[in-house]
Amino acid sequence: MIHAVLFDMDGVLYDSMPDHVRAWHETILSLGIQSNEEDYYLFEGMTGGATIDILFNRAYGRNASDTEKEQIYRKKSRRFTEINDCTRLMAGATEVLSAVKRTGRKIIVVTGSGQPTLFGNLDNNYPGIFNKELLVTADDVTKGKPDPEPYLLGLRKAGITAGEAIVVENAPLGIRAAVAAGIFTIGVNTGPLPDSILKDAGASLIFPSMSILAENIEEIMENR
Ligand code: CA
Repeated sequence: MIHAVLFDMDGVLYDSMPDHVRAWHETILSLGIQSNEEDYYLFEGMTGGATIDILFNRAYGRNASDTEKEQIYRKKSRRFTEINDCTRLMAGATEVLSAVKRTGRKIIVVTGSGQPTLFGNLDNNYPGIFNKELLVTADDVTKGKPDPEPYLLGLRKAGITAGEAIVVENAPLGIRAAVAAGIFTIGVNTGPLPDSILKDAGASLIFPSMSILAENIEEIMENR
């Protein structure tokens, strides 16, 4: 029996990835480090610090210091806030959330994001859907995706087992985290990566959009 659905946030509930990618790319370029936009879709779900370490290792052969990580992540977050007003919702997300809510199941948000402007506005954007207790952000975990820790914490907060849950994720590392937590995982491919990357990460089902998932979510929940 499925008792809960765990949702990733960026690229699932918010159409925010293009703005994150732009903010990362501009911030990292301002440090004189080269990267390309696809990098950030592949890194998606990691903590900011883990992303910065990968880019530092590429450029300098070392991890970033805690101070560097803090400064760079703050700069990236500030840039994101300048270009994203937190109102661009993913098409179809309201319908998916409503279907889960209507059937009496719990809704949990599990994000690697440390961007309070986005998770702080979930209630305004999706009124009556979320319970503040059932939110996992970058602040709650030490490892972050692709480690299963965020999803395991989400299960614990909701008081359910992996077998009673479904995850909805758009990013390869997020899918890996959910699968490593033992949860049936739906990939919604809202970005530019090929479906095969989501499949290889372990997604059991792949949909091209939240709107198409909305047409199928009730049946999936009933038949798991
Ligand atoms: Ca995501």
